Amino acid sequence: MPTYDYKCSACENLWEEFSLINDRDQPTNNPCPECGKEEVTREVTGYGICVDTNITPNKKTGGQWNELMQKMNKTLSKDAQAGLDRASSRSGQRWSG
Ligand SMILES: [Zn+2]
Repeated sequence: MPTYDYKCSACENLWEEFSLINDRDQPTNNPCPECGKEEVTREVTGYGICVDTNITPNKKTGGQWNELMQKMNKTLSKDAQAGLDRASSRSGQRWSG
């Protein structure tokens, strides 16, 4: 079960709570355990949102960033190509090369 970090904007207390995946977009109903105020915001920890948020170019990855970007570009160009194919078949024109 994933945990989420919460922050109280009143006293800046930080804590962690278990949360159902279905509730991930909902703010916590619990007040701050420190001051009891309900001025609680959820901190984004990167869990299940985007794996790339934890990777910084060529620092943690040791140079694998470029490799990752190339993989992404291949995936993107594949999609773009499919889009072009659809567009060209619709217009009757073909891209040369
Ligand atoms: Zn608080």
